[in-house]
Amino acid sequence: QDTCKYSGIIEDCCCDYESVNNVNRAILHPLLQQLVTTPFFRYFKVKLWCDCPFWPDDGMCRLRDCSVCECPEHEFPESFKKPSPYILPKDDPVCQEGKPEGTVDRTLDGKSFNGWVEIDNRWTHDDETDDGEMTYVNLQLNPERYTGYTGPSARRIWDAIYSEYCPRYAYGETCPEKKVLYKLISGLHSSISIHIGADYLLDESSYKWGPNHELMYNRVLKHPDRVENLYFTFLFVLRAVTKAAAYLDQAEYDSGNREEDLRAQSLIRKMVHNSELQAACALPFDEAELWQGQGGPILRQQIQNQFRNISALMDCVGCEKCRLWGKLQVLGLGTAMKILFSVNVQSNPDPHHRNNDVYKTAEAVKLFGGHITREPGPLPNINTKNLQHAWILM
Ligand code: FAD
Repeated sequence: QDTCKYSGIIEDCCCDYESVNNVNRAILHPLLQQLVTTPFFRYFKVKLWCDCPFWPDDGMCRLRDCSVCECPEHEFPESFKKPSPYILPKDDPVCQEGKPEGTVDRTLDGKSFNGWVEIDNRWTHDDETDDGEMTYVNLQLNPERYTGYTGPSARRIWDAIYSEYCPRYAYGETCPEKKVLYKLISGLHSSISIHIGADYLLDESSYKWGPNHELMYNRVLKHPDRVENLYFTFLFVLRAVTKAAAYLDQAEYDSGNREEDLRAQSLIRKMVHNSELQAACALPFDEAELWQGQGGPILRQQIQNQFRNISALMDCVGCEKCRLWGKLQVLGLGTAMKILFSVNVQSNPDPHHRNNDVYKTAEAVKLFGGHITREPGPLPNINTKNLQHAWILM
């Protein structure tokens, strides 16, 4: 309810709050809720245990212990049944991970990755080279929610992001590109906080989960700029989806399950060709206004490097499930940036074209992955996590 008080045009976008709420509620959220259940979109292949490149002395080893998966044995393929090398902490004060409700389920379904190809996105730090270390995660079994990850480790990540890679811009800042980077990250942060509040451990002894409205209000809803940035991030990713519509329409969603893959394709088509959506929000974000002028290429390089560093920082997140969703959402945002700030996708919508390196179908998982999960009231299920990764659209 709290977001209803927000009205008018969202800064730096071409859409207003009411239209976003309406199209999300009537069109996007229902479609995304179905899309993320399809095999192609519910599995995320990720390298979860990369070393943090920034501070070797962080409590990563200890926190890695949090990542032991305690999901029931029958959910695992044979290859995952060997004993885990990690030891569970008994009472980890930082992280709830390791308890059954906090585990990451790695249900393996190799067939979902028939179309998997190596991806090179210069906007993100995404090492997908060593297949042996990649993990398959069923996102449906690992919803983004409260994990208990807090304190200096979490604070250090956010501090590094805001102080070094995307400083809050001063009032009157005229460089739109710098504003975009800050807003995207702040919107992602809002989305994470909303998801924590939407699915919170209300009572530890009985493991009762439910919404924590106070948390949502204090961390996001009472801050108009954080709410606005959440909507901004939503619209940014939505613009990427609409720009890549021709590609998404023709792409192959091959998980080995023909019926389910056709369902995924049909849902995507309903989304990208929706006339009501186009009428309500014809141009969610106008990327053509960016990178103009002589300094454009240098600025783009600078911001690309900053975003890559933020992406690399996700390996420093000391809680496995938070790292999973952090990576997914940042990769989703990176995919959106690649679509909006690279080659003109519409000029070559054929996903089978040999030279089409614009992006690959596997990236669609990241793009929509952010948007999975719950709908916290009228808020867009963003981010990108929500849009995504749909966030998360979150
Ligand atoms: P934090 O959310 O840590 O915020 C730190 C500071 O940043 C605030 O004091 C404020 O000054 C500023 N700030 C807050 N929100 C915004 C915003 N939207 N825009 C701009 N500035 C802002 N915890 C979980 O329980 N589940 C998860 O899935 C999870 N995922 C995470 C993923 C990542 C990548 C990171 C870094 C952390 C994650 N966490 C998760 C931890 C969570 O984000 C918080 O850090 C933690 O709950 C402690 O919250 P806090 O109240 O100290 O404020």
